[in-house]
Amino acid sequence: MTTRHRKVAVIGAGIVGVSAAIWLQRSGADVTLIDRTGPASGTSYGNGGILASCSMVPVTTPGLVVKAPGMLFNPDFPLFLRWSYLPKLAPWLRKYLKHANDKDTRRIARGLTGITGDSLEQHLALATGTVAERFVKPSEYGFAYADRAAFEADSYVWELRREAGFEPDMVEGEAVREDEPGFGRAVNLLALVKGHGFVTSPGGYVQALAKEFENSGGTFVKSEVKAFDLQDGQISAVLTDQGKIQCDAAVLSSGVWSKPLADRLGLNVPMESERGYHIVFRNPSIALSRPYMVTAGKFVATQMEDGLRCAGVVEFGGLEAEAAEAPFNLIRKKVHETFTDLTWDTTDEWMGHRPAPADSLPLIGEIGRTGIHTAFGHHHIGLTGGPKTGRLVAGLIMGDAPNIDLQPYSPNRFA
Ligand SMILES: Cc1cc2nc3c(=O)[nH]c(=O)nc-3n(C[C@H](O)[C@H](O)[C@H](O)COP(=O)(O)OP(=O)(O)OC[C@H]3O[C@@H](n4cnc5c(N)ncnc54)[C@H](O)[C@@H]3O)c2cc1C
Repeated sequence: MTTRHRKVAVIGAGIVGVSAAIWLQRSGADVTLIDRTGPASGTSYGNGGILASCSMVPVTTPGLVVKAPGMLFNPDFPLFLRWSYLPKLAPWLRKYLKHANDKDTRRIARGLTGITGDSLEQHLALATGTVAERFVKPSEYGFAYADRAAFEADSYVWELRREAGFEPDMVEGEAVREDEPGFGRAVNLLALVKGHGFVTSPGGYVQALAKEFENSGGTFVKSEVKAFDLQDGQISAVLTDQGKIQCDAAVLSSGVWSKPLADRLGLNVPMESERGYHIVFRNPSIALSRPYMVTAGKFVATQMEDGLRCAGVVEFGGLEAEAAEAPFNLIRKKVHETFTDLTWDTTDEWMGHRPAPADSLPLIGEIGRTGIHTAFGHHHIGLTGGPKTGRLVAGLIMGDAPNIDLQPYSPNRFA
């Protein structure tokens, strides 16, 4: 449909939904943004804040199937499983691990690059001139390694990154501490990639974008979407716990919680929560000059408004279980090994849910001819790819042809 006067409901006010709402509004749509709790109350609150364009290599790399059991039983590796959840997880896990081969890894990496590659430009296009602009900081993205051997052990991932145009500059030996004094002796090589960025408060950023949307005439409704009204197969309203919201198009952008709503529309999306954790060290004694992936501990460290945020861990345990203590303890241990002299006043702890489809590609596109567009399933790159995703779905709804092939992201692969 190409008409410019559209009434659109956007479900979920994380980074993806808020981005979609703003781009729809800028194209002239009448937009209602709906969230059951409030903007940035889901995963978009607690992420590592990194606009990680070069994080386009999926977790499912060749050899994972052989390595996974060792990772799981290694108390020093940030992979956790709640064993009581295994029967529920097993069908998804089988599908997920099937992609751990060279051909699929390369295909998925190409697909993710289409969403992540120009992240900084997309965030600037979204936020510049708005109250959210101050949160976006251009920077390099650093990968901190124990030594060159550890870097070379990651050569498969770096080969794919180089093919996608991400060439690192290397800092080695004592030059590491001259460049970044916060690192202890465990880090002896930095691989620095230009053209990245970070946000200084992921929650504050998304809330500021939502405020911008409302200030520009958009409507925010706090309610829980339960179902859809379709007439002749086309959306006519979303049904919430507060009543009906009429619309002629909708965006389903409720992160990991999109699955039950997608089920109602005939999609059977194999999606799990990859639970992740963060600790914010308030008033830290070190200040990092750029965000890092600390590869030995597999956590990211980002200097934020409220302190040094260290985020990571993959835990499988579903959406209901409370946060566990062991992942926090592991992050604390790894942070201590990495930033040996770090002191702080207090800490904040958080656990959230990465929306993880089994094939590691987000769902972006229209479900059949319903007028309902999916925009979810961004795993560990949702902050990075949220603005681009929002812009793409807004374009689809408003009849602007996208400038990339959206076939790899089609939700109809799960119809
Ligand atoms: C520890 C950790 C670190 C991470 N670090 C990074 C990083 O550095 N860079 C990066 O790019 N990504 C990172 N990620 C991933 C990123 O945070 C997510 O991919 C992203 O936040 C997903 O955004 P979203 O908008 O899809 O979902 P969410 O932010 O989860 O938003 C979904 C919203 O939908 C609402 N909702 C749910 N159901 C309903 C309903 N039925 N009706 C109404 N509203 C509903 C919820 O309240 C919520 O506000 C990290 C994730 C974790 C866990």
